[in-house]
This record gives sequence, structure tokens and C-alpha cells, in this order.
Amino acid sequence: MERSTIVRVHEGLHARPATRFVKLAKGFESDVELVKDGKAVSAKSSVKLMLLAVKENQEVTVRANGADAIEALEALIGYLENPRAGLDDEAEAQSPANDAGQEAAPAPGSVPAAPDGANRLRGVAASEGFAIGPAFAHFPPDIAGQGRVLRAEEIEGEIDRFRTAVGAVQARMDNALAQDSLSAGDRGIVAALRDIAADDSLTGEAEGLIKGGNDAVSAVITAASTIAAEFSAVDDHYLNARADDVHAVGRQICLVLLGQDDVSLENIPEGAILIADDIGAWDLARAPLKRIGGVVCGHGGATSHIAIIARSHGIPAVLGLGGQVNALRTARDVALDGNAGHVIIDPDEATRADFAGRVEAAAKERAGLTIFKTVTPKLADGRIIEVAANIGSLEEIEAAQEAGAMGIGLFRTELLFMRHMHLPSEDMQAETYAALAKAFAPYPVIVRTLDIGGDKPIAGIEFPDEENPFLGWRGIRMCLDRPDIFKRQLRALLRAAVHGNIKVMLPMVSDLSEVRQTRVLVDECTAELKAEGVPHATFDLGVMIETPAAVLIAPTLAKEVAFFSIGTNDLTQYIMAADRLNPTVAKLNDVTNPAVMSAIEMTAKAGVAAGIMVGMCGEAAGRPDLIATFVKMGLTELSMSPASIQRAKKAIMAMAAEG
Ligand code: PEP
Ligand code: MG
Repeated sequence: MERSTIVRVHEGLHARPATRFVKLAKGFESDVELVKDGKAVSAKSSVKLMLLAVKENQEVTVRANGADAIEALEALIGYLENPRAGLDDEAEAQSPANDAGQEAAPAPGSVPAAPDGANRLRGVAASEGFAIGPAFAHFPPDIAGQGRVLRAEEIEGEIDRFRTAVGAVQARMDNALAQDSLSAGDRGIVAALRDIAADDSLTGEAEGLIKGGNDAVSAVITAASTIAAEFSAVDDHYLNARADDVHAVGRQICLVLLGQDDVSLENIPEGAILIADDIGAWDLARAPLKRIGGVVCGHGGATSHIAIIARSHGIPAVLGLGGQVNALRTARDVALDGNAGHVIIDPDEATRADFAGRVEAAAKERAGLTIFKTVTPKLADGRIIEVAANIGSLEEIEAAQEAGAMGIGLFRTELLFMRHMHLPSEDMQAETYAALAKAFAPYPVIVRTLDIGGDKPIAGIEFPDEENPFLGWRGIRMCLDRPDIFKRQLRALLRAAVHGNIKVMLPMVSDLSEVRQTRVLVDECTAELKAEGVPHATFDLGVMIETPAAVLIAPTLAKEVAFFSIGTNDLTQYIMAADRLNPTVAKLNDVTNPAVMSAIEMTAKAGVAAGIMVGMCGEAAGRPDLIATFVKMGLTELSMSPASIQRAKKAIMAMAAEG
């Protein structure tokens, strides 16, 4: 028996809804299939369901055959038509994003150079501070198939070995899911991997290959490539990304078969120095950051996302070591100086004592700064300088409040989008922004609209291949071309504005029309919310000044926006034409270069003349050596990593005392 319906599941049957659908289907004895465009797949396989790529508002047919077919049809059709009803597990779309991403702190990048001592390497000073601890090398090896042809009598044993390995991987993932410490975002990721491991698409394919005489490791590698290729071929950006999940599960099974352990960041010992060629910001954000003593990487520059995450968590980091990082693969202990960009391999006793002293002195300095937590920095002329925090998730609210942040000067919304397997809903965004507004009211919370481009794609947005993604379709450019995504965010912000002092700023602005077009969309959203009877409030609209074009038209822009926030990270790279991620040009990527300082001054002048607030949220805002200069230029808001706030307040107070 069968029934057809229109799918009302938001964004279609992607990972979590597919899993829920499978869970429901497995509760029935009947064979159940889902049919789309004449193609039928088992409703008890989440991989097959995902590969069917069922989208919201598409017509599908559910077919059931067995004793409880009527009940199965009713339940499954019910889910497709009303996915929220009757489900109490893992309200995935409700949980605000976790973690990561901030800014500020001194640490200008220094150019990587050749080793200047047998055991001393130089890289980019990416996150200030000193650390010394055991090295934790994170260089996951590639796994190659063994290419062994099995004898007939070996096959059964190899299948048993394979099944045991799959069981072990599933158990490991179930264990991870049972941990309370797992954030909602991470739980979604692990659950999706567990579903793949538990699904017979991958395992069935691998078993078929073993039966054909392939050894288990080769079979898993081939099977994972086959299934991953199917995901890659689907015309859906989100499903394409699942190919990586399949490879990740395949890798785990192979490691168990080989009796090896993957180098996992989960196991990093307390205080260890993480050594890697590259770490995805995503992996780092999910790592037990509290346990990491320091980070050393072959890749990355002072404003790369690894650096930003490290700074936001107060973890000293030296990046951009290039091939030199290989010298650290076998190190036992490592000392690192995140201010100078030095790394010392297996330091001798004298160096150890020196670093231990520096770590202690830094802790003392931090303790001495706590008196500035509650200080409101005021200049001799009575002007108050707002020292605010840059954060990227609700989890960082506490750190910002603890530091004494006078609001949020930059809430990076990208992580909210990156941490989910589909575009975050308006409700979920509204809840997140409202939580921020409430936490800091009456101080302002400046939310930056989505600032993303092809260099870090996210599920649900198809980015073109671009030769220069940093000069391409990103930030406000992408948002204006995708009003469906942009309006969802603007509506969420208008709704959240009811709960506190929300301000909104646009990234990567280079033309006045971008502000005007945004205003039209804001007006449209306001009218829609009014017509729908949804509570909402207005917000101040400002722009980031981070392109040379924005600096040059600042006097015109200032007449149409409520505030400026200078993004020195991008402004420096665009003024100096020096890629902020490229360690080889790190020397040029210097905010103190007269060209950049003059751009900042021009912006400040234009803003002050128009009577609007001029702030700064690039990393330079947290540099005590530059704060007085910025304040003298007329800036009245400085937003930075929570870790830099007290030192910045101290610098402003010192300046005020000097008159
Ligand atoms: C900047 O460019 O200065 C900025 C604050 O934004 P991001 O570092 O996120 O590009
Ligand atoms: Mg920027």
C-alpha cells in the first residue's frame, strides 16, 4: 500500500530529518520505501534517503508492505507533513551555535625565517602569551589499502573482522554521544557520522568487496569512495559535503582494522602544545580548548581563523612555520613565545626556567588587571570610550561579561551558519540574537550580518569557484544576491531588537548602493512582520569600514548610516594588497603602516564630522600601544577579544590621566 504527499520538512530530508525518518520507519516491521521521481529507496537507510535528495515542497510517495503497513504509512506521512509533531528528541534546529571566533590582542605578525638556532624556529606571532608543555603532534596519516587478494578460506574471517571493527566504531560514536559535555552542534555532527556507520550502504558495499576477495581495509576505502562519489554527484551543496563524512567514517573503520588510533584532538593532554601542519578552524573550535596550552602550525597567519580562535580563548599561538613544522613532529616538549613568534624544541633547563617565569608573570599581570573589569573608561573631556567584546557564539557571553565588556562590538554570525548542517532558521537566529541582547542590555550588541565567501563554504549556499575569493562573492555582496537568506537574518534581527539594544552592521561594504538596498530589504521585512503581527523593533544600521572604497566614500556613507566600525584585519589586507593569511607577506600586513593609519584617520574624520559613532572591531582595537592614537582620532568604541578588554581599559585610563 502507498500514499503520496508533499514534504514539509524544512530544507528537505537532510541528515537529521533523514535520521528521524529512519528511526520512525525502523519502528515498524513492514518493509518501507520512499519514492521520488520514480526512484524507490529503503526508508530504513539514512544514507539512501539522503542520496534521494528530497527537498522541501517536493512530492514523494511512501510505500509500505507488511503487517503494520497502515500504521507505518500514517506515522511516516505524518512526519513528512508535520515534522515537528510528536518528536521530542534532539531539537537540533533550536540550539544556538557553539563556539569560536574572535579577535584582537596585540601580536603583529612577523615574517617566518630560517631557524635561528638549532632548536629554535620562527613563525608568525599569532596569539600572544607564553607556553611550555609536552608536544602533541597532530598529523593524521593517509591510510592506503593493503591491496591483498584473499584466499577463499580467509573471506569469512575477514568479514567477521570487518563487522567487529564497524561495531567498535559505532560503540565509540555512541559513547561520544552519551557525553554531556558535547555541544548541540557537535552532537549533530557525531550523530550524522554514527548514522553513516550504522547504515548498510557503506558496510554492505564493503562486505560485497570483501566477498569478492578484497582485504577489509582496501574494501572500506573503495566502498567509502564509491558512496562519497554518490554524495558528490548530487546537485545539493549540503549533500556534497556529506562525502567527507563518509570518508571520515571509512577512516575510523580502517584504523580499527589496522589496530591504530587516530590522532584525535579529543585526547590532547592538559597543557600540551598542539603541533600541526594545518587545523581546520572547525576542528579546533570543537577541540577541548581549555586543555590546550599553545598552538603551533605550518599554515595560518595573524588574522587567520585559527589565530582568531586561539586569541579568543587566550591560547598562545605561533603559526605560518611552513615546512619547518616538520622539525616538531618528534619533539617531546615545546616552548612557545606567542609575542615574538618563536618556538623552541625540547628546551634546555635554563629555557624551561625562563619560560616558566614568563608564564607566571603573565598570570600575575592578568590578576593585576582584574580591577579594570568594572571600570568605565572616561576621558578628561567626559567622553566615555566603550570597550566591547568580539564574540561568535553564545558560549562566549560569560567570558565577555567576566572581562567587563561594555556590550558586544562584533558578533560574527558566520559560526552560527557554519555549525549547522543547513541554513539556520529565522526562529533559531532570533533566539540567538535575543539571548545576546538580553545578556548585555542596556549596552549595545552589534551583530554583523553574514560575512562569508567561497573560501569557507557553508551548507545551503552554493558558491562559485573563484580565483580570488577574498575579492569575490562574499559578505554583503552575497547577501544582497540571496535575499531569501539575508531577509531571514534581517527578520530575526528585527524580532530580537525587542529584547535589548541590537545594532546591525554590514560587512565588506564598498558602495553606497549596498546600504540602500539593505534598507529596502529591512523595510520589506518590517512590513512583513507588522502584517504577520510578529513583535519587532527597529535597529541602528551601520557599516564596517574594511575596504579602501569604503574609506574613500566614508563622508557619503556617514550621512546614511548610524555608525562605522573599522575592520582593520581586512582593511589592512586590502589597503596593503597583502593577503592576511599569507605568512610570506606578513610584514606588509601591518596596521601601523602609514597607509593603513591614514585610512583609519580619514574614516574617523568623516564619521566625527557627520556626528556618528566611529568604532573599531579589527584586532588593532585591542592593542594598548595604538589605543591612544585611535581615541585621539575620535573613536569612541573599541571592540576586541574578551582577553584584551581589561588591558585596553587600563590603557585608556592611563591616557585620560595624562590629560
Ligand atoms: C576585520 O576585517 O577587521 C574584521 C573584524 O572582520 P573579520 O576578521 O571577521 O574579517
Ligand atoms: Mg573583515
